[in-house]
Amino acid sequence: MNFKSFPQLLHYFKDEQKAVKYYEAIRWNGNPTCPHCKATKPYVTNRGYKCSNSDCYKKFTVKVGTIFENSKIPMKLWFAAIYLCTSHKKGISSVQLAIDLGVTQKTAWYMWHRIREMLKAQAPQMLSKEKVIEADETYIGGKEENRHKAKRLSSPKTGLAYDGTQYNKKKVVIGVIERNGMVILKHIPDAKMENTRPFLENAVPLGAKLMTDEASGYKGLSRKYKQQRINHTYRIYVRGEVHTNTIENFWSLLKRSLYGIYHQVSEKHLERYLNEFAARFNARNVNEFERLEIFLSRSEGGLLYKNLTAND
Ligand SMILES: [Zn+2]
Repeated sequence: MNFKSFPQLLHYFKDEQKAVKYYEAIRWNGNPTCPHCKATKPYVTNRGYKCSNSDCYKKFTVKVGTIFENSKIPMKLWFAAIYLCTSHKKGISSVQLAIDLGVTQKTAWYMWHRIREMLKAQAPQMLSKEKVIEADETYIGGKEENRHKAKRLSSPKTGLAYDGTQYNKKKVVIGVIERNGMVILKHIPDAKMENTRPFLENAVPLGAKLMTDEASGYKGLSRKYKQQRINHTYRIYVRGEVHTNTIENFWSLLKRSLYGIYHQVSEKHLERYLNEFAARFNARNVNEFERLEIFLSRSEGGLLYKNLTAND
């Protein structure tokens, strides 16, 4: 099966049972497995399966233990949502998703956050030693010129931006990127070495070629990496292969998208948006239907609605 367009996807999955079978094939590869006890060879029932392990005997469907659990939304709409959320380079708002899918905004928001949970599982844990890696940090949310006019206020004392309710600190995001490759992102409290170092050690393999600027968060890495630093304060941006342009281009895409589509991102949700951007960026070279399958193959691990809405 191979889709060439969005209408073809909708047409192919118009029968719910066909969509469920497709997902079963991706999740179980022909071996339906009880999500409760991992036993295989369950009994087939009208609505799904019943575990054949006499200590378990629980009923289940392919949706149990996935982002689709407890959802009455047809799989066709879920696939359509995944398609829309992962194929637009800059992302899509839940308002637009609601319009495109013909669902309420609340439903679209809920779907989008579950999809982000799925995308989180796509994140690579470690970059490749074979590629040149760039590390850098960026600051989200404090820039006055990206704000609505009414919100362009800064505290005279702290210089922090005002978001309408409180003076907000800029949020720090650190990233590492391979030239022509993958990116890994993380929201950190600030760009001091105590925060940058553990992230870098988890994401960059020992001995890798690592490009950074002269910021203090990247000091003293040359014992672990072939580190080269570019001195931006002297307005030097490229010295042969020494530069951080790849990650800076990524930051500008991330910020244009965050400000343009999501307008503002709360501290609580920032990590999820970062997962979203990283997953989409990292899958940029596969076609849209391979991408759907790759993402679906990692759709286990649900996210409870109440966890999302608490304290929002
Ligand atoms: Zn079982």
